[in-house]
Amino acid sequence: MARNKVQFQKGLSDADFEARYGTEEECRAEVFRIRWPHGFECPACGGRAHCVLERRDLHQCNTCHTQTSLTAGTVYANTKLPLTIWFRAQFLITQSKQGISSVELGRRLGVKQQTAWTIKSKLVQAMLERDAKKALDGRVEMDDAYLGGRRSGGKRGRGSPGKRPFVASVETTDSGKPKRVQLRRVKRFTKKVITKLASETLAPTARVVTDGLGCFRGLGSTTASHTAFIVSELGWSEKLPQFKWVNTILGNIKSAITGTYRAVRKHADRTLAEFEWRFNRRYDLASMIPRLTFAAVTAPPMPYRLLKLADGEG
Ligand SMILES: [Zn+2]
Repeated sequence: MARNKVQFQKGLSDADFEARYGTEEECRAEVFRIRWPHGFECPACGGRAHCVLERRDLHQCNTCHTQTSLTAGTVYANTKLPLTIWFRAQFLITQSKQGISSVELGRRLGVKQQTAWTIKSKLVQAMLERDAKKALDGRVEMDDAYLGGRRSGGKRGRGSPGKRPFVASVETTDSGKPKRVQLRRVKRFTKKVITKLASETLAPTARVVTDGLGCFRGLGSTTASHTAFIVSELGWSEKLPQFKWVNTILGNIKSAITGTYRAVRKHADRTLAEFEWRFNRRYDLASMIPRLTFAAVTAPPMPYRLLKLADGEG
């Protein structure tokens, strides 16, 4: 009997979460395991022999005497919060299908909204850096879209005040079932922009399907093929079966954003990255916490000052 794998899978229950990540020791052990899967390794000299300075919670290398904290050089660096708060945030961010606002996150974590905003921004930044370099391949549906509303008539490719343009790409099976998505903000829809985006985010063997908007001619020879369905006489691509998944995903993002977030304009990159990350791991909800922990220990620390900058600044 065929069933919808996403709908029927079990996420991690509150009780499961508590049992695995309920104490500071458990969270620390998880970060250690993921950061140093083969045991401690000195970031300065690669040495393994070390002692632990209990009082200050530092690992001191026996060879070069460099002292390293468990969280130094990771997204959790210099945090004043217990790791239990970070792990609970990871739980709440990854297990909710629609996403969670920083107001709601603050309420659930029992911290100020600004603190919740910082935690969430740092974790989503880690998601963004983790996914940035994974190219889509095979059959790929590609379409132009705007954060702050699907285009609704008007001149395409020009954008409008208050809307952030992005390109939505969905890798599908040959029968059209979605595998992975990429949601990437662009400055504008031009051939040059699409050429650059395609060379960075699509495999040279990808077979791309678009609705023939002029900028997609920029795909040129960056991919194996480009099939354009010219739809001007039919209306927008929403009506075409070829774009079923791009449009379903765009619809979900739009309803989640309008239902959950307000200030997405300034931080469009992270808003898109959060949806992309969750969608691409939708078949395995329970593994999302260790996978996000991996992203958090491998991404560099991000100071608050930089997090506050809007996309495209700095
Ligand atoms: Zn060392």
